[in-house]
This record gives sequence, structure tokens and C-alpha cells, in this order.
Amino acid sequence: MAGLLAPGGAARPALPDDVGEGRPAEVDRPSPVPVARPVIGEAEIEAAVRVLRSGRVVQGPEVAAFEEEFAELVDGRACVAVNSGTSALYLSLLALGIGPGDEVVLPSFSFAATANAVRLVGAEPVFADLEQGGFGLDPAAAAAAIGPRTAALLPVHLYGHPAALDRLVPLADRHGLLLLEDACQAHAATLHGRPVGTFGAVGCFSFHPTKNMHALEGGMVTVADRQLAARLRMLRNQGMAEGDRHEVVGGNLRMTDLSAAVGRVQLTALAGRTARRRANAAVLDTGLSPARSHGLLCPAVADGAGHVYNRYTVRVAAEQRADFQEELARRGVRGSVHYAVPIHRQPAYQGQRRLPLPRTEAAAAQVLSLPVHPELSAGESARVVAAVNEVAALLDGGPR
Ligand SMILES: *Cc1c(COP(=O)(O)O)cnc(C)c1O
Repeated sequence: MAGLLAPGGAARPALPDDVGEGRPAEVDRPSPVPVARPVIGEAEIEAAVRVLRSGRVVQGPEVAAFEEEFAELVDGRACVAVNSGTSALYLSLLALGIGPGDEVVLPSFSFAATANAVRLVGAEPVFADLEQGGFGLDPAAAAAAIGPRTAALLPVHLYGHPAALDRLVPLADRHGLLLLEDACQAHAATLHGRPVGTFGAVGCFSFHPTKNMHALEGGMVTVADRQLAARLRMLRNQGMAEGDRHEVVGGNLRMTDLSAAVGRVQLTALAGRTARRRANAAVLDTGLSPARSHGLLCPAVADGAGHVYNRYTVRVAAEQRADFQEELARRGVRGSVHYAVPIHRQPAYQGQRRLPLPRTEAAAAQVLSLPVHPELSAGESARVVAAVNEVAALLDGGPR
């Protein structure tokens, strides 16, 4: 119970989830180490001002340039920019003709957007469990979820770790299914040297400020097939082809040039920031060995996986997680939980078809994400390591 009380004995208010900057520090304490710190630096501001001064802010030359530059991340695939990662998923499903009567197999342990996109096109999500010891869709569970109405698999590269595409792609091929990658958290992640977003019919990326790179808001679809890319371009812009011919029914899901200009700056910094995320993760991997001896589990990296650490997510005993988080907060370290309630238990998804999800339930109860973002100072990293080791020793006991 002590862990639930602040030093003064008063109950603490709940911590905000994903704040960029900490609230004012308590007296005699440094400000908390935040879980994420979105970057809007001088270069981003200059790019935005340049676009604003040009007077041309809607989808235009900046979007076209951003698409071309992003293609270098995905082996030259066609890239189609949209206004969010959710729109990238939604438009992809729409363009691939997935809709009412179709089922899409996906993990329940993800951000709700993954399943929302499926429901928005009128198809049915079918939830399958995670891999043992990891946070990606389990190929065996996905296989068991396939039925006569299955149209597609939709794995998620959760936290920046690639899903088991080396087994999911052949599975989709064997059953004649489409495969869409939710790469919203995984810019520049790789599997056996090949970038995510190049394995499936489409890869979908997000540029929300909590992701590895941002465009204020935005999304990108990476597409193997040029005709599909052309269809996506029509769908994002009222179904318009040349001139003012509306070939199909579309919407307005365009990215603005303002967003694209910011995204282009962020893209140039991505390699450096990814390297810093990996270096920060390595400091945690090494530094947390005392905590591991008290039962904490550090994130596993699959063979051949190039993890980009959108989150550094450990597992602690479910019944201790709240205390763990609270004790970390007392030591000036923010830990956050993604996702405490898996999608199949959200009110909007009651009664949705699903397989047994024991690993999903365990993950939802045990996960805790620690600060790993590229703006962490060496001092902050050291504080995170020290705090986690202290709390793990204090609570002693890992996930079962
Ligand atoms: C962020 C995210 C999305 C949605 O992206 P938005 O840009 O916020 O719409 C979808 N799936 C996953 C796994 C995400 O993390």
C-alpha cells in the first residue's frame, strides 16, 4: 500500500499517459523523465513557416517530395501520403476491396486504430493471440483464425519490433490472402535486413508526434503495385482522377503541404534518432540486469529483427504493476502502459469473433514502457536504470 502514497502521505493524482514535458518538479526533485518527447525544433519551424509564407498549404509539391523521399526507406516502393496512420489503414483496406462479408485477422494487443480501420470499411476483425515471449501476431494463432470469409492478415509491428513476417507472408500466400502491415510504430524497422512496409500488399505508417518520426499528424501507404497506388491517390482525393472526373467514391484524406514539410525534416533525422533509440535500449538492456534478477523481463528481440524501439517495454508481475509504476514516479521516472485494455475488451468490440487470447491478456496486465526516446540525456538514462533496479529489488517478483 505504501507504494500508492506520495512521500507526504497524500494520494497522488493519476499520471498523464504520454505527456511530452513533465509537470513542475516537486521541490528538491529533478523533473520527471518523460516517456516521449516529440520534437518540433528550429528546422521544423522554418519548414512550416516556408510553406505558410508560400501561401500553398494544401497537398502539393511538399507532399510529392515527401512521398519520393520516404520511398528510400521502403526499397523504392510507391508511397501515398494521407492525413493519418488510421487513414492509411482505412484507405488501404478500401482500395484492396475489403469490406462487408470479409474477415481480417489481426492482434487484439494493439492500438484501437488497427481494428477501427477494419470496422470502418464494414469488414469484421478476428482477433488472434500473440507469439510466445513477444508482442507480434502469432503465425499459428493466425492460421487457426483463418476461415472461409478471411480476406486478409493484418499484423502489427508493435513497439517498433517487426512481426513474424517470415512466417506470416507464406501463410497468407498459402491461403490466397492479402497481407497488410501496420507499421505505424516501426519506421525503418527491418527483418533479415529488409525494411517493414515492403513485405505486404501495403505498409501503413503514422506520423503522429508519439511515433519515431512525425509530420504534426499524417500517414503513408507504401505500395508494391503502381495501379493500387493510383487507386489510393484517387480515394484520398474525392475519387478524382484527371481533371474533375470522379472515377470512384472517395473522401478527403489528403496530407497538407505543411505536414509534409515537417515530415521531410523529420525524415532526414530519422536514422540518427533511430540509432539513439537503439543506444538507449542497449543501456537499459545492460543496466537492468539487477532488475532482471528480481524477475523483470526486458524486451526480447527475434532473430534477424531490427527493432527501432518506439517503446522499450518490459514485463513485471501483473499484481505489482501499479505499485511498480508508482514507485518509479516517486523516483522521477514515468512508465506508461500500452495497452492496459486489449481491443477485444473495449466496449466497441464486444462480441467480436476471436480465438482464445491468454498471451494477450497476460501482456495487457504486465507491460510497462520505460523512457527510450532519442532526446534522453545520458543522465536521464542513468536515472531510469537506477530507478528501475531499485524498484525491482524493492518489489521482487516477476511475471508468472
Ligand atoms: C498510431 C497508430 C495507429 C494510427 O495512427 P494515427 O496516425 O494516430 O492515426 C495505428 N496503429 C498503430 C499500431 C499505431 O500505433
